[in-house]
Formats: sequence, structure tokens, C-alpha cells
Amino acid sequence: MTIYLATTNPGKLRDFAAIAQQHNVEVAPLPGLASIPEPPENEPTFEGNAIAKAVYYSQHARGLLVMADDSGLEVAELNGAPGVRSARYAEDLGFPAEPGSTKDGRNNAALLQAMNGIPQNQRQGRYRCVLAIARDGQVVKTAEGTVDGLVLETPRGDGGFGYDPLFYLPELQQTMAEVSLEQKQRLSHRGRAFESLLRQL
Ligand code: IMP
Repeated sequence: MTIYLATTNPGKLRDFAAIAQQHNVEVAPLPGLASIPEPPENEPTFEGNAIAKAVYYSQHARGLLVMADDSGLEVAELNGAPGVRSARYAEDLGFPAEPGSTKDGRNNAALLQAMNGIPQNQRQGRYRCVLAIARDGQVVKTAEGTVDGLVLETPRGDGGFGYDPLFYLPELQQTMAEVSLEQKQRLSHRGRAFESLLRQL
């Protein structure tokens, strides 16, 4: 079985491919993805966005199983922000872009500023991922995975992507940017959601 991924994010592609291998499933980028106009991503929930993307892209790839994800970081003290706006958090806040800074770097800086003054014992964060698989415009399955951690005050580690250098896993005493790729695949929200989806298929 091959699942076609509606994402160009290399971090996500790598994570999914490694998990799929353990289940004898192949994952591949959706053919022609770059030439398909991107759908709007305006739903208020991760599930809504994941379903909308999977349904949309499956209409451009007749007969194929197309998987889309939506994911992000929820911080309790920020009432669940950045949440579904995780990728666009700094932009939404009008946070200044330092010359040479990356999108992830700018989002991390915006998060640190928003959490300035929140003590370490109230810095709980949760990564959430919802996956949806669709074929020919119909949803086939959805699955969700979460992982809990703490948002540090200074970044640590240079692996991963997004908010990983700030996302600390107390049981491992490492950030998500410090754990091995294998550990991340196993315990991450994306890994857990994908495992759950593969079990259902
Ligand atoms: P999406 O591509 O719309 O799902 O946006 C996900 C955004 O949430 C990313 O741009 C990151 O900012 C954040 N995010 C989601 N998953 C992860 C992860 O595994 N590590 C770090 N950041 C993540």
C-alpha cells in the first residue's frame, strides 16, 4: 500500500517515511503537488484543516490514498495558542522579522515574548497532530496524536524543526531538538497519530 503525502515539509516527510517502513507501508510525496494551488487553511481546528486538505488534494489525484496533516503547539497559559496558527504565529502577532531570521526562528522568538514572565512550572505545552486520509474527495480515516512537554525559556538543540528547540520532554530531560530521530518518531504527536492511523487501516 502506498500513501501519498500532501506535504512538502521535509521534516514531516522524513518522520512519516520512517514509521511507514516499520508497517510495510510506503509513503511518497503526492505527484505534482507543487503545481496544485494550495487550498486555504482557515478551519478553526486541526481536524478541520487536515480533512479539508486531504479531501482537496485527493480530488487532484484520482484513485490515490492521500494523507494530509495539521499540527501545532498548544500552550495552556496562552489559552491554546499558537494552536492552529502555529506556522503563522509571529506573522499574526506582527512580530518583527530580524534580518536573516528564519520563519521558525521568528515564531520561536514570538512565542518566547508571549510567554515572558510565565514561571517554569506553568509552561506546559502540548504538540497535537491530526491526520486525515482521503480518496477521490471522500475522507477514509482520521487519527490524532499528542505529546506533552514544557516550553523552555531558551532554545536547546539543533535537530527537528519548528518549536522543537523550546519543547522540553521532562521524562527524557531533552528538548525535541535534542532527541534522536528514532526517539522523535516514536514519541512525537505525528508519530503517535500515524501509528494510530496505520493500525486503523
Ligand atoms: P502545519 O504545517 O500547518 O501543520 O503547521 C505546523 C506548524 O506547527 C509548524 O510550522 C511548526 O511551527 C509547528 N509544529 C508542528 N509539528 C511540529 C513538530 O514536530 N516540531 C516543531 N514544531 C512543530
